[in-house]
Amino acid sequence: MSLWNVPLADIDLGDEEIGAVTEVLRSKWLSMGPVTAEFEQQFATMVGVKHAFAVTNCTAALHLAHLVLGAGPGDTVVCPSLTFVATANAIRYTGAAPVFADVTGTENCNISSESIASCLDATTKGICVVHYGGYPCDMDSIMTLARRHGLYVVEDVAHAPGAGCWVTLPGHGPGGDSEWVFKRCGSIGDIGCFSFFSNKNLATGEGGMLTTDQDVLAERIKLLRSHGMTSLTWDRDRGHSFSYDVMASGFNYRIDEMRSALGLVQLRKLEANNQRRAEAVNRYHEKLAGLAGITLPFAHYEGTSSYHLLPIVLPADEQRPGFTEFLKERGIQTSMHYPPIHQFTYYRSCTTPKALPVTEQLGRRLVTLPLYPHITLEQIDAVVEAVTTWHSQHV
Ligand SMILES: *Cc1c(COP(=O)(O)O)cnc(C)c1O
Repeated sequence: MSLWNVPLADIDLGDEEIGAVTEVLRSKWLSMGPVTAEFEQQFATMVGVKHAFAVTNCTAALHLAHLVLGAGPGDTVVCPSLTFVATANAIRYTGAAPVFADVTGTENCNISSESIASCLDATTKGICVVHYGGYPCDMDSIMTLARRHGLYVVEDVAHAPGAGCWVTLPGHGPGGDSEWVFKRCGSIGDIGCFSFFSNKNLATGEGGMLTTDQDVLAERIKLLRSHGMTSLTWDRDRGHSFSYDVMASGFNYRIDEMRSALGLVQLRKLEANNQRRAEAVNRYHEKLAGLAGITLPFAHYEGTSSYHLLPIVLPADEQRPGFTEFLKERGIQTSMHYPPIHQFTYYRSCTTPKALPVTEQLGRRLVTLPLYPHITLEQIDAVVEAVTTWHSQHV
C-alpha cells in the first residue's frame, strides 16, 4: 500500500510478469539467452530499426553509444542540462566533455536547436538529445544541423519508448527530393538509448537497450557489451564455438533473462499504457488550463508523446516548497525533473560556467505531478482540486 493518496508514479505489473519470470527461473538459464534475443528482436521491431541490444541500464547504453561513435579526450558533446545526470556522466566516461545547451522555452522543455548551434566549435563530436517527458525533440532541425556539421546524434530515449515524430529524409523522395516519414524515437539519430528503470514507461527494475540501423555500430556494441569477446556463452552452449578471442577491453553490460522476460511482457503493454497516460494528461491539461501564471509544458504539442512526465511551471520563483507541501498535506506526491546538471558541484568544477536562462528558470519553477497508466479520474481530480485551491490562495 502506498503512503500516498496519489503517488507520483506506479507501475502496471501483475501475474503475467510474475509468470514470465518464474518460467525463466524454472529454465535455469539466467543470463543473456533466448528470452533476451526475443526481447531485442521485438524491441527492434517496435522502434523500427535493424538492431537492438539489451544492456544493464540506460547509463551503460549511453556510455557504449558515445564510445562506438568515437567520442574521446579532447572532444565535446552537446547535450541538455535539464535532464537526469546520467546523460552527461556517460559522456564524461569516454573522456569527452559535455557542453550544455539551453532548452526551447517554458512551454517546451526540449533542447533547442538554435542553442545547440551556438555551442558548436572545432571540438564538437556529437549531440545527445533527450526527449523530455516523452515528447520528441525537434529532430528534423537537429538532424539537419548534425548532417551539415558532420556530427553524430545519440538519442536518450529514457522517457520516450513508443513516441515518434515526422522527419525529412534527404534525397529519399521521388527525383531526389526530401521525403517526410514518421519515425519512432530511437530510430532517428545514429543510436537510441532506452531505460527500463522501475519508474519508466517500460519497467524491468534495472535495464536498458541500444537501438541502431547501422551494422558497423551494431558489431561494435555487441563486442563491447560483453568483455570485447568474439562469442557469447549462449553460442558456446549451443556448440557454435569452443573458444573466443578478445578484440577490445570491453565491459560487462549484459542484461539477464529475468529482466528480459519482464521486458517482453511490459513491451506488449506499452502502447496501451502510453494511450492511458495520454488520456490522463488530456484531462489534467483540460482542467488546469486557464490558471493564470501556471504554464503547462507541451499542452499544445502535436507530435506523438509517450507521456512519461506531467510537468507544470509555477508562476514565480520561491513558490515551489510551499506548493509541494500544500499537495503533500493532501496526500499527493510530487517531484521535479530536473535540477539542472550545470549547477551541480561536480559539473561546476569541470565545465566552463555559462548562463542557460530558460533551463535555470525551469530549474526553479518546475514541478512534476502524478502520472501513471492506471491513475484514476478521482485521483486526477484530487490533484487538480489541490492545485486550483493553492492557486486561488497564492496567485
Ligand atoms: C532514467 C534516465 C537515465 C538513466 O537510466 P538508467 O537505466 O537508470 O541508467 C538516463 N537519462 C534519462 C533522461 C533518464 O530519465
